[in-house]
Amino acid sequence: MSGTLYLVGTPIGNLSDVSPRAREILSSVSLIAAEDTRVTGKLLSLLGIENQLFSYHEHNKKEKGEKLLSRLLDGEDIALVSDAGMPAISDPGEDLVALCKDHDVPVSVVPGPCALVSALAISGLPTARFSFEGFLSTAKNARMTHLASLKEDERTLIFYEAPHKLVRTLQDLYEKLGDRRISLVRELTKLHEEVIRTTLSQAVLLYNEEKKPRGEYVLVLEGAAPKAPCSEEEGLELALALRKEGMSLMSAAKEAAGRTDGSKNRIYKQLLDLEED
Ligand code: SAM
Repeated sequence: MSGTLYLVGTPIGNLSDVSPRAREILSSVSLIAAEDTRVTGKLLSLLGIENQLFSYHEHNKKEKGEKLLSRLLDGEDIALVSDAGMPAISDPGEDLVALCKDHDVPVSVVPGPCALVSALAISGLPTARFSFEGFLSTAKNARMTHLASLKEDERTLIFYEAPHKLVRTLQDLYEKLGDRRISLVRELTKLHEEVIRTTLSQAVLLYNEEKKPRGEYVLVLEGAAPKAPCSEEEGLELALALRKEGMSLMSAAKEAAGRTDGSKNRIYKQLLDLEED
């Protein structure tokens, strides 16, 4: 009988977030497959767990995946961990799970923290419907095609991003998707945990002029304006909310007008009157 592949969630910053079951599985399996064995080695030593590590990452996943599969088929239980968070989410674990499925090897999950779900929960943006978009490609064509496919998507959009690519990504999102609310969620569960709730235009300004990107980011972006028109009153409420988030008067009026059958100029004037009061 074959062994089981355990997908074990590990902390995304705070060590106390490791579950008792994760400790138990990491201690009892024959082998732990890890994206970066140094990172996982440190985690294991902090948890006081001694076990064998096996390197499994993007650049060796084909060859090492076959080796892991053969050990699983021989009856060994194996844990798979990511550098942080849930394995198989934006990491090569996805391929190993597919390989196990193809060979009828049981896969079990030991859920733990996940950056995207934690960021969505804390973002303050709608959570009922969302789409996880992972990392945007750095290849220009693939990146632009990806962004174009999101333009009409009304769901909240979630991206992962590295600090050195943040400014370009904010700029591209603004240019391709227009001004929208965004929550920049960084360093979750760590000392410098921060959530900046703003708009794309303000975020571009902030990171171009004032703030240096630092740490790990999840970008949670408001979806496209719903196509069904809302009433002018609702449009005005939306415009006021956008103003509070820092959007310019003209952009907020335009955004609200796009969602109503109302005129941009009328909403602009109503906003101006309200703000002058
Ligand atoms: N498998 C992990 C998960 O989803 O739970 C994510 C792996 S992905 C390679 C790493 C990305 O997750 C980072 O670039 C960042 O976007 C996000 N991330 C990880 N830890 C984070 C944290 N503490 N705060 C904010 N974002 C984080």
